[in-house]
Amino acid sequence: MFPLIINLLYPAQCLACGEKTASWDRGICGNCQKKIKKRLPPFCAKCGRQISTNSKTNNICAYCMIEKLYFDRALSVFHYDGIIKNLIHEFKYKNRLSLSNDFTELAAGFIKEHAIGKEADIVLSIPMHPLKLFKREINASDVLARKIAKILNCRHSAKVLKKTRNTASQSRLSRRERIENVKQSFSVNNNKKSEIKNKNILLVDDLFTSGNTVNECAKALKKASSGHIEVLTLARGDRLT
Ligand SMILES: [Zn+2]
Ligand SMILES: [Zn+2]
Repeated sequence: MFPLIINLLYPAQCLACGEKTASWDRGICGNCQKKIKKRLPPFCAKCGRQISTNSKTNNICAYCMIEKLYFDRALSVFHYDGIIKNLIHEFKYKNRLSLSNDFTELAAGFIKEHAIGKEADIVLSIPMHPLKLFKREINASDVLARKIAKILNCRHSAKVLKKTRNTASQSRLSRRERIENVKQSFSVNNNKKSEIKNKNILLVDDLFTSGNTVNECAKALKKASSGHIEVLTLARGDRLT
């Protein structure tokens, strides 16, 4: 009854096209949902990059052959193009948190299909530096991680990892600069180390760009003796290799 009344009083508008959405706690209308493209396998078994079907490299992309990655598997649900770009921007920078309901709902099939987080003991988000969090008020990655943990029926914590250095945004940096920018900028809180020892982890974030941010988090977690680490991001803008 309560949601029905809220729906009548505050019908939500689609954040992509302005049309009415199905419910007050949804931010994307049915038509726009259909326009969001999900990524299709085959994926690199390690970093989740889309690889060609006739790849002869053991399902591992050329990048993963040379780079040191600390996570065990990463996957992203949507292609980072079209309306998803704007929607992630609205979610992340304008605190349109209702979008986390749409994103999680749209990603649920993909998560199940690829058994993401099936073995996870705990779901973690990517922490923000306290100064950045003060400015933005909400860590969108954490809102998303909570929702993903819920559908996986798994524990969630925002307190395991911490950002120790306030780094520049990765978006305008070159590949090399990105690696340097986030190097050793995450660590595991001392009083949380026992919570992750030998535990399998699912790290959740909105976007996979170079993978350096999640890799640095994974490095800190492995250093604290975590178990297997998977990474789930909403979107990735890779090209077929
Ligand atoms: Zn729409
Ligand atoms: Zn790879």
